[in-house]
Order: sequence, then structure tokens, then C-alpha cells
Amino acid sequence: MQLFDVYPLYDVTPIKAKGVYVWDKNGTKYLDLYGGHAVISIGHAHPAYLKRISVQLNNIGFYSNAIQNPLQKEVAEKLGAISGCDDYQLFLCNSGAEANENALKLASFATGRPRVIAFKNAFHGRTSAAVVATDNQNIVAPINAQQQVTFLEFGDIEGLKVELQKEDVCAVIFESIQGVGGLDEPSTTFIQTTASLCKSHGTKLIADEVQSGFGRTGDFFAFQKHGIVPDIISIAKGMGNGFPVGGILIHPSIEAKYGMLGTTFGGNHLACAATLAVLEVIENESLMPHAKRMESYFIKKAKQLPQLKKIKGRGLMLGLEFDFEVGKLRKKLIYEHHIFTGGSSNKKLLRILPPLSIQNKHIDQFFDALELAMVNTAV
Ligand code: PMP
Repeated sequence: MQLFDVYPLYDVTPIKAKGVYVWDKNGTKYLDLYGGHAVISIGHAHPAYLKRISVQLNNIGFYSNAIQNPLQKEVAEKLGAISGCDDYQLFLCNSGAEANENALKLASFATGRPRVIAFKNAFHGRTSAAVVATDNQNIVAPINAQQQVTFLEFGDIEGLKVELQKEDVCAVIFESIQGVGGLDEPSTTFIQTTASLCKSHGTKLIADEVQSGFGRTGDFFAFQKHGIVPDIISIAKGMGNGFPVGGILIHPSIEAKYGMLGTTFGGNHLACAATLAVLEVIENESLMPHAKRMESYFIKKAKQLPQLKKIKGRGLMLGLEFDFEVGKLRKKLIYEHHIFTGGSSNKKLLRILPPLSIQNKHIDQFFDALELAMVNTAV
């Protein structure tokens, strides 16, 4: 059987990883500034993470969601304490798309309404509802196309007012900082106005923190910078540091009834062990203030780059925008300098999503390589 090629692949086969490094099958060592697309939060193969998962695997790795799993309660308590969202309820699932799927469904259940507002360049996942709220028609199949999602410019308050006045919108779903879309972040005024408009029209506000959550921006959630209280928060990626796990946080204003949400694997014992380890390491190693320090250092170095147009994002969700497309540059960084970086739907943006444990010396290594790689690359 041939493997279906999901993405255009680089010719690199990683077989081992530790901290901020990845090794391929030939023994070449790569600096990982992509973190498997913002998934590696505490660093590859962190000892505390390996220990917690392997101890758990030796006890019980999985049973069933029909029977109590005390680790889920532990995750909820720990997540509530560290994020400051302790009054929310936690539902655990397996991925970012599944989190958004449940978030949208719950908003619709809670309001009895069918329509959704999403934003231009949004990415929320590839499952049925999540994909329709994703601004990429190429990945929406005919079976999904009937669903009612209106896309607005990210920042369009007037458009939002018009749509919400129709009183048929169950949810506004947004990323505080768009990941796949290219690191755009609207103003605090827009986000706060969106939150208050939603409140006055009985529409639920869903903060998609799948990529920006779990300390990546230096705050636990990216929306927290804007001082709002979303009705639902979607999480995944950095939550498991590579173990597939996701979830939604449900504000007490939403009554989630038994039967509305469910999944076989979601919040299994291993997923909980992985999440608990991630939360403990974020706290014990002060990775959130560390991410802010690394952001400052990165920006200081970036400002010295002659060809840079703009620095985007915050924390360790950063992007360097150039006047040229970065595809060739990324290839050079991988093949010649052994550094993984990310792209986005903005072809001129180099995306940096490293493990939160990155140090100054790794940032130095990146900028030294970038200067060399940029010679004759700007085409
Ligand atoms: N939301 C956001 C903001 C994302 O970046 C992604 C993944 N790129 C998803 C949802 C979907 O997550 P998953 O791939 O785990 O389904």
C-alpha cells in the first residue's frame, strides 16, 4: 500500500528528538524552530514527561469514558489553576479540529441557532463544522458546503454588528493570533467589542487557542492579553507535547447537558498523563515568563536584519515577513543549515514556533544561519 501524501514533504526523516533538537535517519542534527507546528511545548522527550507517561502506561493506558478516570479531574484542576480559567468545565477530546467541532456544536445547542461568524484567513481544522469555519474553499467538501458560515475581515466591527443583529448567529469563532493564516492579530478594541457584541446578542464567543494556547505567547492563552472572557476555549497542540489530546473549556454561562459531547478516546489515561506533565513543566520551569524573555531576545536580533519588512506575532509564536517568498529560504535553512521553520498562507512569512524551552544560543544559531541563507535567496 502506498502512503497518502498529506502535505508536500521535505526529504528529511526524523527518527529521534530531544529538547529543541531533532535527528534524522542519517544522524544529522536539526534545530527545531517549528515544534511540529506549535505542538512541542515543553521540548522533545522531556524527562518528566517521559516518566509520567511510561509510569501511566505501566498502570493503565486506556479504559473507557463510560467509567471514571480520576486523571481527568486532576487535569481540569491543574489547567484551571495555571490558566486562571478555573470556573470553566473541561471536556477532553483528541485534536484541535475535534475541539472546534464540539465548540461549534455546543454553541448551537446552547443558543438554538444555526449560523457562525468566522474571519478571513482563519484555520479551525478539517472536520465537518471546523472546516467550514476555515477560510480555504479547497478543503471544504460538498457534504459540508451547506453549512452557514459568514467570513468577515478580521477587525470589521461594522460587519459584525450587521451580522449579529440578525439574531441567528450561534457563535463567533476566532484565533487571537491567526496561526496558519499568517500571524495577524486584531486590536484589543476589536476583540473587546466582539466580546461585548456577542454578549448583548446572545451569541457565544469561541476562542480557538489550539495553536496559541498553553503558554506559547507567554500568557497561558493569547486572548488573555485582551482581557475578555470567552464562552468556549478550544485547546490541543501544545497541550500534549506530541501526544494527541484536545479539549474545550466551557464557561458556566453555557449549560452543557449529558449526551451533547462524547468521544471514546478523549481524555484517556495516557493523554491525561501527557497533559499533566506538560502543565507541571510549564509551571516548574517558568516557561511562560521564559517565552516572553525569548521573544524580546528574538525581536532584538530580528531588528538587525537588513531585509526584514515586519516582525509578527508574540511570545514564541513569531514571524519574519520579507518582500520575497520564503519557500526557497526555508529549504536552505533545512538542507544547508539544518533548521526547521514554518510557513503559512502568507508566502512571505517565515514562521517560528519553537519549543518554549528554547535558549538565546538557539536564537543566535538561527540568525547566523538566516544571514547566510539569505544570500542569493531573495527571489
Ligand atoms: N485551530 C487552529 C488555530 C490550528 O492551528 C489548527 C491546526 N493547525 C487546528 C485548529 C486544527 O487542529 P488539529 O490539526 O489538531 O485538528
